[in-house]
Amino acid sequence: MHNRWSASAAEEMVQTLAPRYGEALALRTYASRLLGSDPALVLHGGGNTSVKGVWYNLLQEPIAALYVKASGWDLARIEPEGHTPLALDYLQRLRQLPELSDAAMVQAVRGQRLDPDGATPSIETLLHAFLPYTCIDHSHADAILTLSNQQQGAALLAEALGDEVIILPYVHPGFALAKAVADAHDRAPHSRGMVLMQHGLLTWGETAEASYATMIELVSRAEAFIAARLTPLPQASAAEEEAAWQRYRQLAPRLRGVLALPGRTADQPFDRFLLLPLIDRQLLALLAQEGAAATLLTPPLTSDHLIRLKPLPLWLDAAALQDEALLQAVARYRQAYRAYIARHAPDGAVAEEATDDTPRLLLLPGIGAVCVGANEEEAARVRDLLRQTLQVKGAILGMGGRYQGLSEADCFAMEYYGPQRAKLAAAQEAPLARQVALVTGSAGAIGSGLCRELLAQGVHLAASDLPGPGLQSLLAELQASHGQRVMAVAMDVTDPASVAQGVEQVVERWGGVDLLILNAGLAHVSSLETMQVETFQRLQRVNVEGTLHLFAALAKLWRQQGTGGDAVLISTKNVFAPGAQFGAYSATKAAAHQLARIASLELAPLGVRVNMVAPDGVFSDGDRPSGLWAEVGPDRMRARGLDAAGLEAYYQNRNLLKARITASHVARAVLYFVTRQAPCTGVTLPVDGGLPDATPR
Ligand code: ZN
Repeated sequence: MHNRWSASAAEEMVQTLAPRYGEALALRTYASRLLGSDPALVLHGGGNTSVKGVWYNLLQEPIAALYVKASGWDLARIEPEGHTPLALDYLQRLRQLPELSDAAMVQAVRGQRLDPDGATPSIETLLHAFLPYTCIDHSHADAILTLSNQQQGAALLAEALGDEVIILPYVHPGFALAKAVADAHDRAPHSRGMVLMQHGLLTWGETAEASYATMIELVSRAEAFIAARLTPLPQASAAEEEAAWQRYRQLAPRLRGVLALPGRTADQPFDRFLLLPLIDRQLLALLAQEGAAATLLTPPLTSDHLIRLKPLPLWLDAAALQDEALLQAVARYRQAYRAYIARHAPDGAVAEEATDDTPRLLLLPGIGAVCVGANEEEAARVRDLLRQTLQVKGAILGMGGRYQGLSEADCFAMEYYGPQRAKLAAAQEAPLARQVALVTGSAGAIGSGLCRELLAQGVHLAASDLPGPGLQSLLAELQASHGQRVMAVAMDVTDPASVAQGVEQVVERWGGVDLLILNAGLAHVSSLETMQVETFQRLQRVNVEGTLHLFAALAKLWRQQGTGGDAVLISTKNVFAPGAQFGAYSATKAAAHQLARIASLELAPLGVRVNMVAPDGVFSDGDRPSGLWAEVGPDRMRARGLDAAGLEAYYQNRNLLKARITASHVARAVLYFVTRQAPCTGVTLPVDGGLPDATPR
């Protein structure tokens, strides 16, 4: 491991931040970022740092202060505000207390904020307060955990790090740990650092640079020690990796279905999870190793992984994937989890609704790992923690060691530890947060409006269209505001192989599809007398066959998932009130509409609802002109002697409400169905401002 301290970068930081925050906090910020930007040291808001200094009140009186990392800040991107100033004297005197509950500790620490608007300080604050050093760094370094989390770990650490480092057996984080750390330090006051078994490493110094340098030096020693004793594991072949992906694609929809929980009422959809796979050659080889289950089917590396990973993964070998066996394996996991709660929680201490018994990490020999979350962000966090877990547990296996994690009681104490649970208390979930939607014809005017409104309701969105700049620019636009919740799927709806491939891409990414919005369509203006049959057939392929291919592909998928679904066809008012010169469009859309009605009959037994939204013309969505209007607008303008604005006004004025129909209106009608406001299937909802001739009948 490299010491990445740069005198010039540190100086630059001092130049920028010191005038406002002082030199000590500027350098603390710099060193914290160095620590945070190395995933072999800390991950996802893990680890913490502090600096002791002075705070001046309004009377310019100096107060001894501890600036400690606030929870919610990531060390990699920390700003000076990420270290909350606290009155140090009182916190240090708390050490006299024989004990202090977690709730009282959190209250006491928050009460010592010198800036009342300061962020909530780290739950490890007292540990920083009790140690008598200006700067303290704390990491959960891979190399340290590789040694601290195996049998005879303390002896290995002593050999690797020498006697300048204290080794402290596991203590539950909070007041007890802070006291144990301070006591251990007092017994060996000349030490340079301390390993907390099954937890991480502490280093200290009079400057941020010194404390950081000790951190790097000790972790490097551990790395060298491990490297000298490690037999590298073999890697699976490329063919084995391809076979693993193949198996995963087949399994994922059913697996996602088995993990889903029934909706809380008959009207509500299933509470589904997003699945993110981790399939690589190293992991495949690791899972195939002798003793892999004994090493990997074990508690997490550190207590802060617990709330994300749960105490144990679910191990599913090939036999467990067959038919009923998969259901049983998941049911057994849930039962075992509840039994674990019952063993450790005093009566009623963990409310039924707080008991979340769904596994978050699945290990499947021959396939890889599957990370489970209520959304992409949660599942991705599991995947990052899994990568670190595999690094550490794999190294232990490679050293010929035996993994030694937290005891079950320690797992429970930490999984249901108040200050940790607080991190999970997320904002209320958006209505469609656990659903994956596939929208066809996304790059058009109605399509992009649909994508935006669905994303606003929390969906994970697969935006599909023909490959090209339209789809690319839509993806860039949507990702800018919704990040990883959006993917683009290049798909030609007229080609069943392309449809199958597109659906497969979504299955690989998130595990399945729940909502299908059939919006791809083509229009053409021609009288029947002059209609080219090839043109008619081109519309038929997109509007009719495209609808058929998508229903066929999704019906298979929904049968595998077993958790129902919703489909909405973007139909048209022309199905009910066709226009002259518009035969190819009206006839093919009518056929698509009829297919959707048939789908509502055939898919109801699977719990799938199929409905239709029938808009009048939508001209554009922001800067995106509608493709349909690019095709028919010029002709209609000529026929009526109007310009573009005039034509739009003409359409607006012909409906009862004098409404200009927008993509958002169409999207909100779709939302009415997919958020399951009422038990509807086979229903057509016109969005046309009131056109009596086009009322469905
Ligand atoms: Zn820690």
